[in-house]
Amino acid sequence: MKNIIFIAAPAAGKGTASEALMEKYGYAHISTGDILRSMAKEDSELGRTLSDLLSKGELISDSIVYEAVEKRLSMPDLDNGYILDGFPRNIEQAIKYDDILKNIGRDLGIVIELKTPVDILKKRITGRRICKECGQTHNVLTNVNAPKVEGICNKCGGTLYQRGDDNEESFKTRYQTYLDKTLPIIDYYRKKGVLYTLESCDPNETLKEIEALINDYN
Ligand code: ADP
Repeated sequence: MKNIIFIAAPAAGKGTASEALMEKYGYAHISTGDILRSMAKEDSELGRTLSDLLSKGELISDSIVYEAVEKRLSMPDLDNGYILDGFPRNIEQAIKYDDILKNIGRDLGIVIELKTPVDILKKRITGRRICKECGQTHNVLTNVNAPKVEGICNKCGGTLYQRGDDNEESFKTRYQTYLDKTLPIIDYYRKKGVLYTLESCDPNETLKEIEALINDYN
């Protein structure tokens, strides 16, 4: 299975698409956001620094991210293909990733850009509520999986919470960082001939388009 890199603004649907691909095709999912959030929970100097930076929506330093990514890429569950979600996030990381791939002897695969209008992204972010128990995502501002009972998970009845960086202020920073730092990567991968851009805002439609790409390439 071809490896996939998702490049998309916050809340464009990388996580949702990744979950579906994991379930259906057995892809491993490597989300640097998830890895960093779990590191931020540690009771240490690094944990506290990360927690502060994440809640402001600022990027974490490249060296910390490289260490986390290299550690994850050395694990043995990647032979069936993996999805990179949240990495690379700037041009330096994209160049470093080429080196990492050479060292570990794996293929770049395909790069999928998900394009979504900013007003939709903002609603998805500020309305997002996640279940503490099962991780299911809900939204109180869009019509997609709105909680039937306020604060309670539709799937398992667990309590819903809001991610520390899912507020308007942090969204502004994350979106601007995406435009300034992450978008230049698109050109980098376009020149390599591995870039595909999808523009649907409907998760099912997006998934179908991704599956068509996967089938073309296997
Ligand atoms: P989103 O794409 O919605 O912003 P993520 O879960 O991918 O959410 O990332 C959350 C935060 O984790 C980012 O705002 C950033 O602070 C940090 N982060 C994730 N990946 C990287 C990376 N590759 N380089 C630097 N910081 C990162």
